[in-house]
Amino acid sequence: MSSNSLQARHGLGRGCVITRRACFSASHRYWLPELSSEENKSRFGLCALASGHGHNYELIVAMAGGLDVDGMVLNLSNVKHAISSEVTDQLDFRSLNEVWPEFDVSRSDGCLPTTEALIRIIWRRLSTHLPIVGLRLYENNSLWADYLGDVMDAFLTIRTHFAAAHRLARPELTQQENEKIYGKCARPHGHGHNYFLDVTVRGKIDARTGMICDLFSLQKLVDDLVVEPFDHTFLNKDIPHFIDCVPTAENIALHISDLLIEPIRDIGVNLHKIRLQESPNNAAEVYAETPRLEMIPESLQVTEKN
Ligand SMILES: [Zn+2]
Ligand SMILES: [Zn+2]
Repeated sequence: MSSNSLQARHGLGRGCVITRRACFSASHRYWLPELSSEENKSRFGLCALASGHGHNYELIVAMAGGLDVDGMVLNLSNVKHAISSEVTDQLDFRSLNEVWPEFDVSRSDGCLPTTEALIRIIWRRLSTHLPIVGLRLYENNSLWADYLGDVMDAFLTIRTHFAAAHRLARPELTQQENEKIYGKCARPHGHGHNYFLDVTVRGKIDARTGMICDLFSLQKLVDDLVVEPFDHTFLNKDIPHFIDCVPTAENIALHISDLLIEPIRDIGVNLHKIRLQESPNNAAEVYAETPRLEMIPESLQVTEKN
């Protein structure tokens, strides 16, 4: 066998995206010296407390490239070494405000160590060592940031949940016809789900606050417009939109997107995506900015993170 065909056998040159996960624990505090004590408290709430607080962060690094002669995009031991020397060894068990100069707010170019600001700096430090195509940083299971290298542009996702009942049936059809389409979901008295709702917004990271938007305002919008009105309801009867629109996961996600798109724009960011997980086995995603239907890797993430 020629050396060329031997190399081709191991996928030489074929493109692939790989991911690596790494964890670290760190503390932070949101406090800007140019604001009064009262202003810091009202803007940043408990995050302004002098003692600070901490998170168990989880970082996902996505890298892309052609396979080498050994059948790998990169040797994982080099990937592990780059991530630990550039990120986790430096941040683990440290105070984010103190460890990197980018978060020293006594400097005029310093900013607060928010999730979205942190992921941007991690990108800057890792991208000289690894062919990164995307980063995700979980602050916890209900808040994470994504960064794709677009200077100050970042994505922030909040996860929330609500419980609701529904019945899948088109009012203009007979019970028998509905059961043929929707199966058990068409039974007359409905059934329920614990829905997980992920709301992803896109915006510019503020150079000083490190935030793309006020997180409390975003959480309040989602609570006021979706969770509070939807939670513990029978969607078909209690939510006017679903009186004549069948409340499939797809339609619920689209309706939530319609409800949130304008109010989210009013707090200075764009609604990027709604992801509604109806059960461990099914979810619906709506891209509010650029509706798209093609398969993307994230659509394959079917399990909820708990
Ligand atoms: Zn925090
Ligand atoms: Zn159902």
